[in-house]
Amino acid sequence: MTTTTDTSVLSARFQETFGSVPDGVWQAPGRVNLIGEHTDYNEGFVLPFAIDKTAKVAIRLREDSTVRLLSLFGGHGLVEAELSGLEPGSGEGWSRYPLGVAWALKERGIDVPGFDLLLDSDVPLGAGLSSSHAIECAVISALNDLTGAGLGAEDLVLATQRAENVFVGAPTGIMDQSASLRGAKGHAVFLDCRDQHVDLVPFDAEAWGLVLLVIDTKVSHSHADGGYASRRASCELGAEILGVKALRDVGVDSLEEAAGLLDETTLRRVRHVVTENDRVLQTVEILNSEGPARIGPLLDASHVSMRDDFEISCPELDLAVETARANGAIGARMTGGGFGGSAIALTPVGQEQQVRDAVVRAFAEAAFTAPDIFTVTPAAGALRLA
Ligand code: ADP
Ligand code: MG
Repeated sequence: MTTTTDTSVLSARFQETFGSVPDGVWQAPGRVNLIGEHTDYNEGFVLPFAIDKTAKVAIRLREDSTVRLLSLFGGHGLVEAELSGLEPGSGEGWSRYPLGVAWALKERGIDVPGFDLLLDSDVPLGAGLSSSHAIECAVISALNDLTGAGLGAEDLVLATQRAENVFVGAPTGIMDQSASLRGAKGHAVFLDCRDQHVDLVPFDAEAWGLVLLVIDTKVSHSHADGGYASRRASCELGAEILGVKALRDVGVDSLEEAAGLLDETTLRRVRHVVTENDRVLQTVEILNSEGPARIGPLLDASHVSMRDDFEISCPELDLAVETARANGAIGARMTGGGFGGSAIALTPVGQEQQVRDAVVRAFAEAAFTAPDIFTVTPAAGALRLA
């Protein structure tokens, strides 16, 4: 696993690349969702946290409307674009994220000039940890500060959502950027996706002798896939038939009644969302009262619901979860949109090595690609470093 360069080294690299010092350096983290999957677009609850893996950007505003972008991540050359010609769908590869953010700010009437940008990120790509939002949140924080736009967190969240939904064309909700922009060290971000209300909930696993392991299955997921769109469509259909604005408005106690109105598949999709919302609320309550050592059964139940009702797991994720649980994790689930990506396993410190070894062995025996396993801790949200 790579780690990001020191701020002064990044500034020096910027100067070598673009010939002048940057105006500043900003960072924004990736995120892990502790619980609350596919509840965001149903106007429900999610509980992600910002992780100690971040995208850092050194930026300097320009006099013209040219954008020049370079990532230290291997294989990407310098990208040059014109802000004046930007429209949804333009740009290629990772340049769509910073360009999308600039486009979304301009759409709000903010005068964004051209800029030079150097990116260095240690958020693993495509592992379900939202490396794309880490980039967007770092860039929007920088442009918000440098242009003097002074947007608050809620507007920044909506602007990055516009960038992803309209400019990049990925139908994502507001969870990822909310965690990245609003996270805090030792806390999870309890987000109500209906009104963007945020409560920070203590989640200091380390203080409880626990580590949060991320098991990246290396199975690539893509939000553009039909699976995501079809789950969203099922949720919309369920809400329409049940006569509610969103599935957020369906309580666990009305599931029995819903069973008579929905076809079998739609019922299972609805049941996942409804019970998952309830599990988020229970998790928040337990974290506030008893601490993280007691949330294991909720993580387990969340995984079963995604595997059987929402059907967004895959053999690699199931094996990671089952093996972690059988070897000492107190709770485990797939995290992120599904169809690949990562699982998380809440594990007592003393069991960490056993879980790691067992998962690696199980993957080898199943002839799966070797997983990448690492720990994450709840860390600060986006901030200016220099
Ligand atoms: P996720 O956000 O879950 O990691 P996405 O497919 O949404 O997965 O975003 C991954 C994309 O983000 C990559 O394909 C790449 O375009 C971009 N990206 C992430 N990190 C970097 C980086 N360090 N350098 C260049 N591009 C990056
Ligand atoms: Mg992404």
